[in-house]
Amino acid sequence: MNIVLFGPPGAGKGTQAKYLVKKLNCFQISTGELLREEIYKNSDIGKLITNDMKNGKFVSDEIVNKLIENLVSDPQKKNKFIFDGYPRSLSQAKNLDFLLKASNQKIDLILYLKVDKETVVKRLEKRKVVENRSDDETNTILKRFDTYINTTEPVMNYYSKSPNFKEIDGNLEIDEITKKIDIFTNV
Ligand code: AMP
Repeated sequence: MNIVLFGPPGAGKGTQAKYLVKKLNCFQISTGELLREEIYKNSDIGKLITNDMKNGKFVSDEIVNKLIENLVSDPQKKNKFIFDGYPRSLSQAKNLDFLLKASNQKIDLILYLKVDKETVVKRLEKRKVVENRSDDETNTILKRFDTYINTTEPVMNYYSKSPNFKEIDGNLEIDEITKKIDIFTNV
């Protein structure tokens, strides 16, 4: 089962992805984590993206698409992907469809965690204290939320007509969100 977790920063995608990885014996593809790893390794890509990441700007589609390409086509992990933070633009959504099709896969479930701006700000300011992420400063959080509204939310129109698209109230507590996700993932 390939699942896309969709929603703004702070929706709980990462937390729920980790839950689903254990429950379904799947593999998480978090582009945010992959990109932070590149910065940590100080790779060529890492050097290119440091400023954008710090300022809450999107990394180019080209870089992100390249990062996931080999992962998605890994035959050992076929049909066992949880996408967390990808796709974030229409061109990424089309790229994902293309990559999945090329390896005879598809998206089986799109879980949209719908969250208010106030909840996002509250959660990420709290996360800043725990994880000390440089993009969790209040100004950057607001910028990231606006980018989400302008660039990522339109991806929803691309997905929302599919019978596999399910909306969940992401303002709920973690456990309650998990219970709702369970309804759609009891395979
Ligand atoms: P996340 O960990 O998902 O909150 O992502 C952290 C940051 O990584 C984002 O604010 C972007 O700068 C970058 N990023 C993560 N995923 C993507 C993506 N699919 N497209 C472009 N930039 C991304």
